[in-house]
Amino acid sequence: MTERDSPDPQGLHQLLGRRPRLLLVDDQPINIQVLHQVFAADCQVLMATGGAQALQLCREQLPDLLLLDVQMPEMDGYELCQRLKADELLRDMPVIFVTAHQEAEAETRGLACGAVDFITKPFNPAVVRARVRTHLTLKLQSDLLRQLAFVDGLTGLHNRRFFDERLEAEFQRALRNASSLALLMIDVDFFKRYNDHYGHLAGDDALRGVAVALRGALKRPGDLLCRYGGEEFAVLLPETEMEGALRVAEALEVAVRGLRCPHAGSEVAEVVTISLGLVCGVPGARDSVATMLQEADRQLYQAKAQGRARVSASALQAAIT
Ligand code: GH3
Ligand code: MG
Ligand code: MG
Repeated sequence: MTERDSPDPQGLHQLLGRRPRLLLVDDQPINIQVLHQVFAADCQVLMATGGAQALQLCREQLPDLLLLDVQMPEMDGYELCQRLKADELLRDMPVIFVTAHQEAEAETRGLACGAVDFITKPFNPAVVRARVRTHLTLKLQSDLLRQLAFVDGLTGLHNRRFFDERLEAEFQRALRNASSLALLMIDVDFFKRYNDHYGHLAGDDALRGVAVALRGALKRPGDLLCRYGGEEFAVLLPETEMEGALRVAEALEVAVRGLRCPHAGSEVAEVVTISLGLVCGVPGARDSVATMLQEADRQLYQAKAQGRARVSASALQAAIT
């Protein structure tokens, strides 16, 4: 393979930190073999001979791109593509149809299902490589942009935009599954005075320290921490009941206090501390993301009013009455 028709001439490989992952889906193993030969040198190639297997591989391996046959028994390519596009986690995966259908109608239908491209068999390997390269580059660029758009520049944590999206998704999931969801709003105590005393740059350093301490105190992979704005942070704990959520909240408070970051302007301690507002429970039909945020904020206000450097909590059921 020449440098020119390699799928990786612009260093996709380096940017990704790994080889691009391609998923080939075709009910005929011989077709998969042909495509496998085209890409084996440059990509990690995953293979599936049916729609259900492909969906499972997508969820487990998050491939960067799919090459998808149209005609398959049980679930055809169109249906698989539609299912991917309906799944929030999988919808950004580019899909290219590879098929013997030559008609414009088949191609239009594929594109209408959300595919980014359509290749007809028999194909020229160099053309397939070039198209895959183009779509992998676009996918990678959009991943990077999305990452930038969702990351807070000061702390490297997720930002509020990301958090709001995840909160909505986790809220809907908790509603559907009748599972308990915990939301924590966190605010640094007397932080204006910290800046006044130590200067704004030292204030930024302190916020970075708080971010590290908070992140270190969260244990589950599903827990989500973000910088919500200014000196405020937010934490989302899916599938967590009040007892566990309270334990996490206390651990977060202890972790920040444990930084032992001197705070001469604080009235509650000699070091930087945080106040936390917690709301937790199984959402009901009358709850919403807005009521949860409102209640977490109300509890944060309570924690401040009761003396700061503490947690104030309320159950979701209590929040709606
Ligand atoms: P309280 O205990 O009631 O929360 O008091 P506070 O002083 O923390 O509350 P207030 O909301 O009045 O002040 C928040 C301050 O946080 C204002 C601002 O100086 C500081 N702040 C917000 N964002 C940043 C930031 O990105 N960097 C720095 N250094 N300071 C920030
Ligand atoms: Mg504040
Ligand atoms: Mg504050």
